[in-house]
Amino acid sequence: MHIDAKLIPDHSVIEGDICIIGAGAAGISMALEWINTPYNVILLEGGGFDYEPAMQDLYRGKTTGQRYYPLESARLHYFGGTTGHWAGFCSVFDPIDFEKRDWVPYSGWPIKRGDLDAFYVRAQRNLDLGPYEYSYEYWRENDPSLVSLPFDPNAVFNKMWQFSPPTRFGSKYKDTIVNAPNIYLYTYANVTDITANEHASAIKQVTIKNLAGKQHTVKAKCFVLACCSMQNARLLLASNKQAPKGLGNDHDVVGRYFMEHIEIKSAEMWFPDPEQLKLYSIDYGKTKVRAELAITAEKQREHRILNGTASFSPLEAARNQPAFIDIWKSSDPKERAKAFGKFDETERKSKSSNGHNSFQLFTRIEQAPNPNSRISLDTETDALGMRRAMLHWELTPLEKRSIRMIYEIIGRQIGIAGKGRVRLMEYLRDEHDDSWPEFTGGGWHHMGTTRMGTDPKTSVVDANCKVHGISNLFTAGASNYATAAAPNPTLTLVALTLRLSDHLKRSAGIFV
Ligand SMILES: Cc1cc2nc3c(=O)[nH]c(=O)nc-3n(C[C@H](O)[C@H](O)[C@H](O)COP(=O)(O)OP(=O)(O)OC[C@H]3O[C@@H](n4cnc5c(N)ncnc54)[C@H](O)[C@@H]3O)c2cc1C
Repeated sequence: MHIDAKLIPDHSVIEGDICIIGAGAAGISMALEWINTPYNVILLEGGGFDYEPAMQDLYRGKTTGQRYYPLESARLHYFGGTTGHWAGFCSVFDPIDFEKRDWVPYSGWPIKRGDLDAFYVRAQRNLDLGPYEYSYEYWRENDPSLVSLPFDPNAVFNKMWQFSPPTRFGSKYKDTIVNAPNIYLYTYANVTDITANEHASAIKQVTIKNLAGKQHTVKAKCFVLACCSMQNARLLLASNKQAPKGLGNDHDVVGRYFMEHIEIKSAEMWFPDPEQLKLYSIDYGKTKVRAELAITAEKQREHRILNGTASFSPLEAARNQPAFIDIWKSSDPKERAKAFGKFDETERKSKSSNGHNSFQLFTRIEQAPNPNSRISLDTETDALGMRRAMLHWELTPLEKRSIRMIYEIIGRQIGIAGKGRVRLMEYLRDEHDDSWPEFTGGGWHHMGTTRMGTDPKTSVVDANCKVHGISNLFTAGASNYATAAAPNPTLTLVALTLRLSDHLKRSAGIFV
């Protein structure tokens, strides 16, 4: 059922069993799980069904520290959320990503990779991916033309990726949600405040507002915050009537440990003869699977480095492509997304049927969890009177050292095999230089602002995504990530959301 919150009487009181805040990849995945259950589910979406500049402006905010994209164009604020923009790259986290690594401060999750396996299988379906298979051997058996470069498997392996069409949650799931008898989707229902009981140990209700000037109250037994990493933190921090530092923020952790994937050109790879390398190449919209080069867990341990991958494209094309951080500058995200089209076109034109001698190597690497890298609240307010989010993005020397080592390992392997040579880019050559070049960018992957853990002094939610100290408030999405791993976040955040949904169903007697 769909209700436009602009059209109902002002100061309406809406009641249900479970209230999901935000209808993007996480919120819609959660709502789909509850269709045809005996529970009334209220799904609150701040925007409407389409892009609107005034809604998008609610996302505007300052950035400091490492150069970043304008916040209002790095996410989308309407039904379907940022899946209206995503590129569909998907892969799974590795077991080491969940471990405590003594060389990565604040690493370690309270769950293991194995705890997510069953949910990855289901998440694959939500994102229209293929079978839950991420081993190179599986895909090679299906397609013998996917030939690997000759690496020692104890050092470098083929990390497989699958590609979603990409699934636009707004268009794909709209009818299912709107026609579900027990899902009450409210659009133009921006949550601006979460009200707890006197001791801030349980949530009673949330306030929703819209640009038509209407304000309503939503009461439920259980609340799930699913409005993206930046908004999850912003809402908790802004809800400070019963808890002066914000909800779940007794230890000043909410908003901290913001993480991105650093995505950056890093090296060149040269071969004496032209190479096709089909296994590693991508044709946007057509390729179902490809590999990136990754460093084994053993080598990561030995060299005490972060997890990252290397992808490559013909050098000729890559040289003509400006970094996204240089072109993704305007506040209109639709305008910026056209950059993807130009990127594809240059890459397509550069493809030669004879293969290529030289390739640009691109890194995608996890950012080490860092309490100084954070979302906080500005004094400036948005059109609904809510304090705007501010991002301070801060990297550490470990990220740069890890990138350098990744290419040393890959380069050594290519050399040992007598295959070719890898040349580091200038900015990586001096191991004493911790600075980052101007073209350092992120992948629009926002993670870690309500991180998962057992200790409330360094985490916001527990292993079941429940906010520490608050009995009926949960967070869904990549804000829960304790570490970022190398893969893009959406597949894992959907898997984690399905796990949360099952947990809530098991606890239904308590919560709903
Ligand atoms: C250009 C681009 C390319 C990307 N490519 C990839 C990729 O290839 N692979 C990948 O894995 N990921 C990719 N991503 C990231 C991916 O889009 C996100 O990981 C994913 O959409 C996050 O899902 P979410 O549900 O947490 O947040 P969102 O999808 O952003 O959804 C949040 C929802 O909450 C709503 N909302 C926000 N605040 C409120 C409020 N106060 N009250 C009510 N509702 C609210 C929003 O309107 C929105 O609908 C990309 C992102 C961008 C921008």
